[in-house]
Parts: sequence; structure tokens; C-alpha cells
Amino acid sequence: MPIIVHKYGGTSMANIERIMNNANRIAKDIQKGYQVAVAVSAMSGETNRLLSLADEIDPFGSGRERDMLASAGEQVSIALMAMALHKIGVGSVSFTANQAGIKTDSFHTRAKILSIDDSRLRAVLDNGKVPVIAGFQGITDAMEVTTMGRGASDTTAAAVAAALDAERCDIYTDVDGVYAADPRIVPRAKKLSRISYDEMLEMAGAGSKVLQTRSVVFAKKYKVPLQVLTSFDDLPGTMISEEVEGMEEVLVTGICSDKTEARLTLFGIPDQPGIAAQVFEALNDDGISVDMIVQSVGHDAHANMSYTVNKTDLGDAIKATERVSKTLSAKETGVDEKVAKVSVVGVGMKSSGGVAARMFRTLADKGINIYMISTSEIKISVVIDEDYTELAVRTLAKEFGLEEEG
Ligand code: ASP
Ligand code: MG
Repeated sequence: MPIIVHKYGGTSMANIERIMNNANRIAKDIQKGYQVAVAVSAMSGETNRLLSLADEIDPFGSGRERDMLASAGEQVSIALMAMALHKIGVGSVSFTANQAGIKTDSFHTRAKILSIDDSRLRAVLDNGKVPVIAGFQGITDAMEVTTMGRGASDTTAAAVAAALDAERCDIYTDVDGVYAADPRIVPRAKKLSRISYDEMLEMAGAGSKVLQTRSVVFAKKYKVPLQVLTSFDDLPGTMISEEVEGMEEVLVTGICSDKTEARLTLFGIPDQPGIAAQVFEALNDDGISVDMIVQSVGHDAHANMSYTVNKTDLGDAIKATERVSKTLSAKETGVDEKVAKVSVVGVGMKSSGGVAARMFRTLADKGINIYMISTSEIKISVVIDEDYTELAVRTLAKEFGLEEEG
């Protein structure tokens, strides 16, 4: 029998009525002839509540104990979900990550899945029952409880779907699909019926928060289609899958914006081999990851270099930048927090040119200055003044036909 994984996010687990509703949905897919495995998040707000209790004691306290605490939210959810299934006559067994054999590395609060031993899950499925697995958490070889970063229940679900060779992983969330642009900015943004793994990964990197990025990485690697949909309605969602014919006919699939980065600049650094290496080694040594990088053409043996980092790392990034600035005798350093990254994404760019020119012209016509540009095969990102973010997204959505007609 084909297997489907259902994942219920915090809002779908928010109260007993919604949990019962999920149970009925699961029963429906069983009636259709599927074996169903379920992964769940903590009830909405619960992880925040638990972590704020930890913060009251010590925001920089032990990662081991933070994980022990935060993982409790999902343990409540699995038991309630299994009880709800029992109530409507569907056999079900709840599993912590330990019981489900979800092994991770030992980086507390940001662990990564190493392997899943699916034998217990399969035994339950073969018994005609529904395994309900705690999302977000894992277990190390040394039997320590870990968590895998905020939003990681998506990743648990995709990884379980991969391990079980599932036909599909349905992710029930608080939005009814993936939109071509954030509907809070573009109210009539089109809902996408399909998007490729690569586009979804670029959208996630560009600020779309629909899924935890690593869930898409898993799904892509193991070729499991993911469907994003809502548990509040019977609407079809958005299918995230391999590129299929016709996808390239659409030039731009989506537009995203991201205000979480800041820009740092080193002015007047020597234009010679090894300088970029020194700058980014310094940042890397302090655990700071850099997103966009722009270096100006050298002039008078000097060049300027700008890069963006996450605002949460800004304090450390400034320190590292000032350190290299001294070593390299830079003329000056600059920090700009009031920036935003706006990106257009689409596999259609692989076969048709002209998107960059249209994007830059559209921004120019609104008087929006571009500070930085970076491109990949299927994405163009620009950094602009934060105040123009919404205007840029709205105008580009119109230019590339990403709004519903009428
Ligand atoms: N409960 C965890 C969080 O709030 C994991 C998840 O919801 O995916 O981040
Ligand atoms: Mg989530």
C-alpha cells in the first residue's frame, strides 16, 4: 500500500477540536487506501512559551537543557494526536524521536538528522496502525535529546517520508499554499499550484518562510513530493516537486523580500591577491555566515568590498570587520542596517534572458536605487533601501504577472 505522511503544524494542533479534525482527515486518507504516518509540531505558541521560561533563568544557558525543555511541546502533541485517532476507532501509536529512531548529530538547538531507523515505524504501519512522530526533536548516539532549529517539524516530516519511501508528504500549515508573493504585501498574489524544489529552496533563501529549508533539501534529495496545504479547508495546496514540463514557460515564479540582513562595507582595501580570503576567513572564524558579496573594480590599487550578514550576527560581524579593517589598513568601514533584499525566482530564467533588465528597469522607474546585485541560474537578488521593499515587491509582481486577474 502507498504511504502518505501528514504533518500538522502548531496552528493545526492548537486545540482539541483541531486535533480531532486532523484525526478525521487521517481516517479519510486511510479509507482511500493509504497507509498514513504523522509528524506533529507542538501546540501553537507552546515552543515559544517553553523557551521564554528558559530565557527567564538564563538565555545563554545549557543547550542540552533547552532541548530537553523545548522537545516537551511535541511530546504533548503526539499523545493527544494518538488519543484523537483512538477516539474515532483508528489504531495509532505515538513515538518520541528516540522511539522512532531519528538520530541526529549533537549540536544542541540546531542538530541535523543523520539517519532514521524506520523498523519500528514500519512495524506499526504493517499492523494497520498510524505512527504519530514527534517533530523537531532527535536523539544522539549518546542518547541525548536534541532539537533541530525552529520550524524543524517540517524537516522531521520530510525525513520520515524519505525513510518510508512515501508517495507524498502533506504539510498542513496556517497558509493554504505557496504564493507567488507575500499576500500581506501583494493582496492578490497568485497561489502556485506547483513549484520545483530548486525554486522553493531559492525562495526560502530569499525570505519565504513557508517551510523550513532543510525539509525541502530532504525532499529533493529523496524525490519525495511535498504538498503545502491548510487543515482548515478542503482546498488543493501547492505541490513542490521535481521540475516538470511547462514549468520553464513561466519566466518568474515568485518574488520574495527579506529584511533580516544588514550590509557591511570595507572601503579602500588593497587590490591584490589574498585580500578577500582574509576578510571572509575572519568572518568565518567567528561563525558568521555571509550572504551577498560585492567587490568593486580596483582603482589606484584599492577596492571596496560589501557583504550582507544576518542582523542577529551584526554585532559580531562588526567586530570581525573592524579587526580585518585594521589588518588591511582599510580607509573606512560602513554599516547599513536599513536594507532589504528583494529577489525574483523562476526556472524559466534558465531558458530565457531579459529578466534582469526588466527587473532593474522596473525598479529604476520607481526611483529605487540598487546597492548590490547577485544572481544564480534561477534567481536575481538586489539589495535596496528597506523603505522601498513593499513598493519594489508590488511593482515587480505587477510587471511579471504574479497577480490574479480581475
Ligand atoms: N515546535 C517547533 C517550533 O515552534 C517546531 C515546529 O513547529 O516545527 O519551532
Ligand atoms: Mg512550522
